[in-house]
Amino acid sequence: MNPANTSRTCSRCGHCPKENRVTQAGFRCTACGHTAHADVNAAVNILGAGPALRDAARAAWREAAPFRSGGVTPGKNAPLSTSAAAVS
Ligand SMILES: [Zn+2]
Repeated sequence: MNPANTSRTCSRCGHCPKENRVTQAGFRCTACGHTAHADVNAAVNILGAGPALRDAARAAWREAAPFRSGGVTPGKNAPLSTSAAAVS
């Protein structure tokens, strides 16, 4: 893949018109409607992982949620965030 095109190539479907790059930071695919931060979309293209990488990133983000909140110490089962537990 040409690195010059990574910022405008859709990481979902591979569509690559210049119209995909709507702003400096924004990406929106004119073919499939996929939207993303332009840098994130480009990074996914460069890594070549596509949807599998996005799914893995989402899963890691969800699994790390209790630690980001600061309500749970890793290794302890501290029942501080009952509201967060109800949401998840
Ligand atoms: Zn697309």
